Formats: sequence, structure tokens, C-alpha cells
Amino acid sequence: MLLVLNPKLTASEIEQLRQKLTWMGLHAVLSQDDGVCALAIIQGADQQVDMEQFIHLPGVVEAIPFQQKYKLASSVTKKQRTVIRIGDVSIGDESQVVVMAGPCSVESEEQINLTAAQAALAGARILRGGLFKPRTSPYEFQGLGEAGVRYMKAAAQQHGLLTISEVMSIDQIDLLAGNIDILQIGARNMQNYNLLKAVGETGKPILLKRGLSATYNELLLAAEYILSTGNPQVMLCERGIRTFESYTRNTLDIAAVPVLKELSHLPVIIDPSHGVGIRKFIAPMAQAAIAAGADGLIIEIHPDPDKALSDGAQSLTLPQFATMMTSLRKIALAVDKTMAHFSQS
Ligand code: PEP
Ligand code: MN
Repeated sequence: MLLVLNPKLTASEIEQLRQKLTWMGLHAVLSQDDGVCALAIIQGADQQVDMEQFIHLPGVVEAIPFQQKYKLASSVTKKQRTVIRIGDVSIGDESQVVVMAGPCSVESEEQINLTAAQAALAGARILRGGLFKPRTSPYEFQGLGEAGVRYMKAAAQQHGLLTISEVMSIDQIDLLAGNIDILQIGARNMQNYNLLKAVGETGKPILLKRGLSATYNELLLAAEYILSTGNPQVMLCERGIRTFESYTRNTLDIAAVPVLKELSHLPVIIDPSHGVGIRKFIAPMAQAAIAAGADGLIIEIHPDPDKALSDGAQSLTLPQFATMMTSLRKIALAVDKTMAHFSQS
């Protein structure tokens, strides 16, 4: 239930109303949308409730029942799009496309430095790099862990990039939240609800990847776990789903972009690298993602992909990445956007 409030209510009157709801056994959180305040009752009003009791509360002008189980993630609760601002980078700002790029795994100081330099030069604003890797086989490279955090942080700082890396478990949160700008929840952990709540509590921006067989509804409910901790900074990431097609690594669901943007106010990011898994198809899918309205891309690149310790087959070389970025600028212009770039100041 969303209680739209009289704009004349003072902060203390809103708080009194929230306390009254708590007293009624309901959990309500304040949501502000384009200057209009509302109290979203996220717990306690799921059963058949008497709408009348809400409409007659002091200061309530309208009571809108939620149609979906996700409430804070829903575009019904918040019509204004969520923009995540980190430093001078804005993700979800309708006029810009933000590119995150880097290796699947951070492998060495030299590798991440070289990649960061070329990623920045080509126009990426955020450096990706796996430090703890969810590998299908336990015998494959599992990531550099703590040493890699230092290499990645230094490389990003040197080249003016922000950072994103995956958190696989709760015990990694302190290390990564203290050193990395955006925490990634991997596809395999989309429904690890304890992890979702724990990353939410850091207050850091979170990129939530869609599970291998997750529906939009399940993805949005996973986002709801993070949002319900009071952390509004969530991005949804489509990274390909499992289908009967086996030629590509996954099937990249481009329809996720307009659909998720209809259902939710959260930014939508496309990961074509894991989506198709084949180097030569990354650029066309990245172009399609921007044309469909994606707020950003996350792309795997490597100085020498054939020697990469993980996901080499889907990683672009550094020159291939630069060429792709040039083509993406044209697509962005065609949909009235620009590619986020370094400010001159
Ligand atoms: C990754 O980004 O390297 C990764 C493991 O992604 P996903 O969780 O989408 O498989
Ligand atoms: Mn990867």
C-alpha cells in the first residue's frame, strides 16, 4: 500500500503518521518522488485490508494498493527514475550511457594497470575486475583476493576510474566495501538473500545480476531485499539467461531493458560479455542494448584475451574495445544520449 501524503505535512507530522502505522503493526518507509512524499507500507498490509482505514488517516490524500510483491523497486512507488551518483559519474541519468570495462579477473598488477589505462582512454568510467571468482569448477582460477584489491584500487585511482567487483560471500564485504565503489552480486548469488541484505546494509551502490534462470519478477524481488534495508542505490543487470540455445554461452535478453524500465525506476545495465560469451558478438549486442535504452554496459576486456585466466573467449582486446566505443557513441546519439565521459574540470 502506498499512502500519498498531503504536500503541506511537516517532517514531524509525517514521522507521527509513520509511528501510528508502526503502532498498527505496519512497517512503512518514506518515499520521495519529485517533491511528493508518500509512505510505502512494505510489511503488514499484504492480506485483505480495509482501505478506508488508510484514507482517513490525517494527511493521507490517496491510498494505492501495490499490484506487485516488489514495492520499493516498483515504478508505482517512485515515478522519477533512480540516478546513482558516484563522484562525477551518474548512472540512470536518462541522457547518458555509462560503460564499465575491465578483465573478468584481476590477474596481476601489470594486467590491471594496462587495462585500466586503455579502458579510460577509450571512454570507460568504471573499472571492472573480479577479485573473488565464482568458477564452475573448483580447480579453476579463483581470483587474487586481497592482493588484487590493492592492484585494482591503485590502477583505478591512477586513471580516474571508479571500481566494481563481485562480493561472493558475507565475509568478503568489509574488505570490498572499504575499497571498491560498486559491489556486484553475481548471477549465482541473486537469490542468496542473506548476502543481499548484508550488502544492502553497507549503503554502497549495488549492481545486481539476473540469475541464470530468474524471471523479471524474481530479479525485482531480489532487488527489493537490498532496497528494504534502506539502501536505494541498486542497478539491475541483464547478463543472459539459460535457454535451449547452446551456440552462445547464454541468451542475452534485450527485452529486459524496456520491460524492467517499465516495471521499475532502477537503472538497467547490460552485460553482453556473459550474455553471449563469444568475442565477435559483443559489439553488436552492446549496440543493441544502447538502442533499447540501457543505462550502462559492463564489458570484459583483456590485454591478451587468449591467455586470460578466466573468460578469455568473450573478452575484447583493448583495441577492439576502443573501436566498439566509437561505434557506441553513434548509437547513443541516435537515441538522444551521450556516452558518459571525463569532465574537463
Ligand atoms: C562476472 O562478472 O565475471 C561474472 C562472474 O558474472 P555472472 O555472475 O553474471 O556470471
Ligand atoms: Mn567473467
